[in-house]
Amino acid sequence: MQTLSNIPGLLLANLLAALLVACSHPPPLPDAAAIAPEAPSALTQQHGGRFDRQAVAAAHPLAAEAGAAVLRAGGHAVDAAVAVQFVLGVVEPQSSGLGGGAFLLVHDGRTVHAYDGRETAPRGVDERLFLGPDGRPLPFDVAVTSGRAVGVPGAVAMLELAHRRHGRLPWARLVEPAIRLADEGFAVTPRLHTLLDQDPHLRSHPAARQLYYDAQGQAWPVGHRLRNPALADTLRHIARDGARALHEGHIATAIAQAVQGHPQLPGTLDEQDLRGYQPRVRAALCHPLPTPERRYRVCGFPPPSSGAIAVGQILGLLQAATETTPAHPGSVAWLHTYAEAARLAFADRALYLADPDFVPPPAGDWHSLLAPAYLRERVRLIGPHARPDAPAGRPGSTPTALAPMAEQPERGTSHVSVVDADGHAVALTTTIESAFGTRTLVAGFLLNNQLTDFSFLPHDRQGRPVANRVEPGKRPRSSMAPTLVFDDTTGELVLSTGSPGGAMIIHYTAKALHGMLVQGLTPQAAIDLPNLGTTGGPLLLEQGRFAPATASGLRALGHTVQEVPLTSGLQALRRQPHGLEGGADPRREGAVAGD
Ligand code: GLU
Repeated sequence: MQTLSNIPGLLLANLLAALLVACSHPPPLPDAAAIAPEAPSALTQQHGGRFDRQAVAAAHPLAAEAGAAVLRAGGHAVDAAVAVQFVLGVVEPQSSGLGGGAFLLVHDGRTVHAYDGRETAPRGVDERLFLGPDGRPLPFDVAVTSGRAVGVPGAVAMLELAHRRHGRLPWARLVEPAIRLADEGFAVTPRLHTLLDQDPHLRSHPAARQLYYDAQGQAWPVGHRLRNPALADTLRHIARDGARALHEGHIATAIAQAVQGHPQLPGTLDEQDLRGYQPRVRAALCHPLPTPERRYRVCGFPPPSSGAIAVGQILGLLQAATETTPAHPGSVAWLHTYAEAARLAFADRALYLADPDFVPPPAGDWHSLLAPAYLRERVRLIGPHARPDAPAGRPGSTPTALAPMAEQPERGTSHVSVVDADGHAVALTTTIESAFGTRTLVAGFLLNNQLTDFSFLPHDRQGRPVANRVEPGKRPRSSMAPTLVFDDTTGELVLSTGSPGGAMIIHYTAKALHGMLVQGLTPQAAIDLPNLGTTGGPLLLEQGRFAPATASGLRALGHTVQEVPLTSGLQALRRQPHGLEGGADPRREGAVAGD
């Protein structure tokens, strides 16, 4: 297995060149495109970085810098995250913004708080939202770009709540850097250019076409100074009135009109839905991760995200399996065990995971899915060959009346990690779902298509309900996995990490955690490790990163292997005795900034 840091310089240069060529003529993606997230762009070489006191890792250098400036001004980690989110909405519009939702974990020195800013389904929907008149699921891409896909945005309201509880600097100060960038413009990056250029839908929306393309419909070139005065104006309202500026008044009216007047499948979202949005505070989901060196406590986001449970199951199963049959990380035997663990985790995810306000946890507690006794029972299903099927388990032996959800595409997100000088830490994963969401631009920002994270099919053939079916006021199941890790003995913060990448987020995050906590790698080396994973179907290996013998070895064990681009966007900060180490994903354009 190759790590980016042990690839010699010339080889890396060739790899970069090959990727650049590949990006100017994107190859048609195989089936796996259906579960892959935003398209790949060029590799950017990353060096991580070391900081004495405080740091911010985010998907764009301007966002990381804005966060670091807030920390320098005495801000709390939450203040920095708020500033970063607003800047990302300007400079990385494909991934997150005012029209989307987010999950935020905050460590305040004592407790981990989980703030849920997930989009919610409007009051007017029912479980047939994504079924056509013939009762069959709509084509996925038709649903994504429709008014029906738009959930009530929650990121700004959630950040406002977290800021009220933890923030030190005035809210308006945190919106300023984004207002400046939207007013004065920023240079279009290679990644933004690639995504604009390749997007099949964004040009057909008049306001988006005017903002992101020239008169001939060509994406603005790399380096073009992109100004977004409408977004600057919206941000000024948010600076003055907070989230209310989005949920009430003229911007709320414009959102409702855009959804209800959508030329293709209008939705029902109205001003009352927007006014009624409430961010939720949940209990973070924490579980132990003992390693030979140290016992960790891994804290992630509970349902409606499936992220923490699936990551925890994979790491727990992997550990239990390799205790009895040791395998070197990256070897065929290890990759086989990883893939089998992942398939078992995704089977549980498909059956049980959904909005906890609508669907009770199995055996009365989401922790039942992570209980050591349950994982010991599940690990027995991992044998020397790939199983033909991966059944869901029954924690506490409780029967379920639910039907499993079929795997659907998910794409388009950003991750932010912050640690401030007082040791407060943030892991924020934020999304508008697909790249550029529904491609509907309102008041300078794009509306999410998060409702396509619900199951299109509400029932199976026997009429058993799918836990993650559409219901009014419900939050769609997510894969986002913002994670904070602690030393289980001292309680001290160890690291903050997370990634975009649709359902593959689970694998990217598991890889980074395994790399840092089990293999002892630096954040950058762990992020650079080759990506792999499965959501229940083929085993996906990151193109160009595995030896041919590895793929054939896995095929010989019964795996269906596909080599595809796997564009993670991991960010990580790790606390060390000498300070902080950071890492950002070379597959996107992130950066780590700090002091
Ligand atoms: N919509 C996905 C989720 O909430 C994330 C999409 C992505 O990361 O690309 O889990």
